Amino acid sequence: MKILVLNCGSSSVKFQLIDAKNHEALARGGVSKIGMPGALLTMDAPGKDHVKISGEILDHNIAIENILNLLVHEEFGVIKDKKEIEGIGHRIVHGGEYFSDSVIINDEVLKKIQDCIEYAPLHNPHNYKGITACKRILPGIPMVGVFDTAFHQQMPDYAYIYGIPYILYKRYGIRRYGFHGTSHYYVSRKARDLMDADIEKLNMITCHLGNGCSIAAINGGKSIDTSMGFTPLEGLLMGTRSGDLDPAIILQVMAREELTTAEAQTMLNKHSGLVGISGTSSDMRDIEERMEDGSKQAELALNVFCYRLKKYIGSYMAALGRVDALIFTGGIGENSDIVRRKTVEGLDGFGMKLDLKKNKNTRGEISEISYKDSQTKIFVIPTNEELVIAIDTAKLIN
Ligand code: AMP
Repeated sequence: MKILVLNCGSSSVKFQLIDAKNHEALARGGVSKIGMPGALLTMDAPGKDHVKISGEILDHNIAIENILNLLVHEEFGVIKDKKEIEGIGHRIVHGGEYFSDSVIINDEVLKKIQDCIEYAPLHNPHNYKGITACKRILPGIPMVGVFDTAFHQQMPDYAYIYGIPYILYKRYGIRRYGFHGTSHYYVSRKARDLMDADIEKLNMITCHLGNGCSIAAINGGKSIDTSMGFTPLEGLLMGTRSGDLDPAIILQVMAREELTTAEAQTMLNKHSGLVGISGTSSDMRDIEERMEDGSKQAELALNVFCYRLKKYIGSYMAALGRVDALIFTGGIGENSDIVRRKTVEGLDGFGMKLDLKKNKNTRGEISEISYKDSQTKIFVIPTNEELVIAIDTAKLIN
């Protein structure tokens, strides 16, 4: 059963065509710089040449049309007819309190996704555009929405309510929602498989460390707390986002620098985090390289990143009581042995014993990187959000 998985951003569409039966990715790629000069369409498929086409791609409609044309292309394509696509799974960032699971997209669901735009103005409008584009281009093919927030919808109220007037929650839905849910879900299930245990009996801490970073406390398979909040800005230090900070800082800086709300948003979302502290790059590879070259600011950025993560792990140990597995995923979690080492350093006393050799040799693959006698198993597990979306889509349309 072939499922097209789409992740529509402001100027990009990422896609994968997945056979949901055997979990095989038949093709993957994306369109970048939509609506800008030098838009680029790329695709990789097993046994085929890498495809890279540049040109003008005005909007999401045209981007998705181009993707479909490439998928059925005589030489580079992987299917003969668009009709072979039996379902489309959309990654949707914010589902508010409406969605605690994936759903078939109908008019009512589409209206709710639109309602959630006010919670995620940077993301949901583009997810919405992707859905309406598919409705037009591939009419009749069932679509499913998979929400980044859904997995965290079972958090207890004391974990999601902020210490501000309760009326703001009632009036505007201001509460913690959490994101990266599909990734936290996937790696927790993979860890369960590796441990060959009943998910109901496991406590886990999952660290998704990519350009965006979040951590989740998972009790019996359910997310009971996570670091991202009302928006994906809260929590851990990220590539360009600040993560946690004293809210008074924003008011001070806005007043002193005479910033508008939009400028303050940009400062916190695009010029903070690793790039803000290091002054040079949001990319962990660059940070590590500069640190090796002696840059004190890069070292500080890395130290803040790991210390913040360690503090969150400590707080989730307290929330869970016992931790059976600590899992690293995302570009940084999967690849940076330095970040993993610095984060877990000193936690032996809490039952987390990192095998330094295994840690050093693990890059981008499934691996248990703790000692055999470590009370908490430590795993590196590459995430696969697209596969979860394809499986959920296939399940619902069946
Ligand atoms: P993602 O958003 O999951 O693609 O992750 C992107 C982040 O992963 C960037 O900060 C990259 O620098 C980081 N990353 C990817 N490969 C490595 C690596 N080999 N070592 C350190 N960080 C890496």
